[in-house]
Amino acid sequence: METITSIELVDLRFPTSESSDGSDAVNKDADYSAAYLRIVTDNDALYGCGFTFTIGRGNDICLEAVDALASRFIGRDVASLCDEPGEAYRELAADSQLRWLGPDKGVVHLARAAVMNAVWDLAARRAGLPLWQLICEMDPEALVDSLDLSYLSEVLTADEAVAMLREQRSWRDERIAELRECGFPCYTTSAGWLGYSDEKLERLCREAMQQGYRHIKLKVGANPDDDERRLGIARSVIGPDTSLMIDANQIWDVPEAIDRVRELAHHRLLWIEEPTSPDDVLGHRAIADGVRPEGIGVATGEHGMNRVLFKQLLQADAVDFVQIDSCRLASINEIIPVLLMARKYGKPVCPHAGGVGLCELVNHLVMIDYIAVSGQVEGRVAEFVDHLHEHFVDPCVVKDGAYTLPKAPGYSAEIKAESLDAWSWPDGTEWTRRRHGEIA
Ligand SMILES: [Mg+2]
Repeated sequence: METITSIELVDLRFPTSESSDGSDAVNKDADYSAAYLRIVTDNDALYGCGFTFTIGRGNDICLEAVDALASRFIGRDVASLCDEPGEAYRELAADSQLRWLGPDKGVVHLARAAVMNAVWDLAARRAGLPLWQLICEMDPEALVDSLDLSYLSEVLTADEAVAMLREQRSWRDERIAELRECGFPCYTTSAGWLGYSDEKLERLCREAMQQGYRHIKLKVGANPDDDERRLGIARSVIGPDTSLMIDANQIWDVPEAIDRVRELAHHRLLWIEEPTSPDDVLGHRAIADGVRPEGIGVATGEHGMNRVLFKQLLQADAVDFVQIDSCRLASINEIIPVLLMARKYGKPVCPHAGGVGLCELVNHLVMIDYIAVSGQVEGRVAEFVDHLHEHFVDPCVVKDGAYTLPKAPGYSAEIKAESLDAWSWPDGTEWTRRRHGEIA
């Protein structure tokens, strides 16, 4: 019997704000960070890594919550944790004193995402499979038993979820072969951060086209003249046939969002992302009503706190592109229910990624969505941001504008030991050098 012996925690931060990477209308100085944990067992070869993503300060608060949740697993049998990930999830969710801090939202929920990401990584490593494959090979009943379907039954029951997953089974091998051949399409946000100069924007758009991307996203929501000029530059470089999306990162009120997006509609936009408060379901519906006549859809979800919010967005027909986040929803247990609901409502899932490690996790999620849930690539495109992948032991591989199938066992969540040494906050070697003025 293998036993969990400890939980290692690392506050990992990167100084991305120095180069305006990640800058948008609301988040101007993001230092991409991971509240990172490693589930350690008495077998050195078997461990599980996971994290949630933050943009700097507060990463330590997430780690406190991770510790409060994960420490209960010390001394547990690895096999029972891995064989029953639904039980582990329910145990974390049932801690009523910590639940009070949410429920199902905020720091404790981010921490649950981190811990369950590590549990799924451990389970996949133990099975010797990449996580996408472990999930796609699970018996539908067992998979559904691991899901959190609470508060969803008027839209999705367990029986229905089993039937939906079972229905897709016969195409599994065909779809895997197709993904091996073509990958899953992605788009780049790397060109369009708000803090980049016009010259840099133009150069990066050109490079993105050369790299095979056919979707490009720009940050908007600064002053209207800048948005107009920047979109003009992007459109002139990418030509008429490449899809162009915009992302306002929650900066507007509802009427302002409608006006501003309509003013930009002549650039032919596929979607407006996060036009307003992420919690405002009816506001998103009003914005959708205002911009759909211009051929523009509403995308949201990266700050979607839980499955219930996604349920309401779908029920209210307030979203056209469902943007799940791998570190904000509480891992596979909560993400698959959202994938199933999106399929039921016929809405494409276009996951949010970027930051540190989000692309590595999303790489598995898009494969699961296509192989086991939706069976569609059409209209779907996942975010890719080309930052910080070098710190991962098993980084995602993007080829010709598409995510490729991960091959290594696990959830691709492990960060290299030397990166942890260098960038752990506040005493990692790189942060220490900065503090001592060795780096300008
Ligand atoms: Mg966004």
